[in-house]
Amino acid sequence: MSNHMRDEHPGGEPPSLLGPPDDETFMRVALQEALLAYERGEVPVGAVVVDDGRIIGRGHNLRETLNDPTAHAEMLALTAAAEARGEWRLDGCSLYVTLEPCPMCAGAIVNARIKRVVFGASDPKAGACGTLFNLVQDARLNHRTELQSGLLSGEAGEILKSFFREARAGTLKRKRKDEV
Ligand SMILES: [Zn+2]
Repeated sequence: MSNHMRDEHPGGEPPSLLGPPDDETFMRVALQEALLAYERGEVPVGAVVVDDGRIIGRGHNLRETLNDPTAHAEMLALTAAAEARGEWRLDGCSLYVTLEPCPMCAGAIVNARIKRVVFGASDPKAGACGTLFNLVQDARLNHRTELQSGLLSGEAGEILKSFFREARAGTLKRKRKDEV
């Protein structure tokens, strides 16, 4: 797994000083969100949006619960953060997510003007932050983010593996839709 981070300002801070010291803390909250999805029988992905060291939005995948193809963790966290801020523009904010964002979520991240994306596990099937595409750092778009991959990827990946193992074995306990 590659651990890369790109500074928008070449010649700026050295790589060792780029990330705030509490990245792991925020990723652990995102992992807790992923577990909430797991408990519902949803593919376990969690996300948080952080503004100036404070969590202003969080979300976990609710695609089945809401019957909504757009109800990914990142989309819900971005919407919650925008509501908390009272504006769609989330410049200066960081987004932490347990799984590499898909093209839809990467598009929303760019549209929200997120400053920095930190994700856990890479997604070989839909990853749009470096694996299949890198939409958040595409010079043709009107905004680019800083990007860090692989933070607590072992834990994020293990939650997903465990979920799919249970799904295949038919032992997943799904909450009913009216238990939202
Ligand atoms: Zn997505």
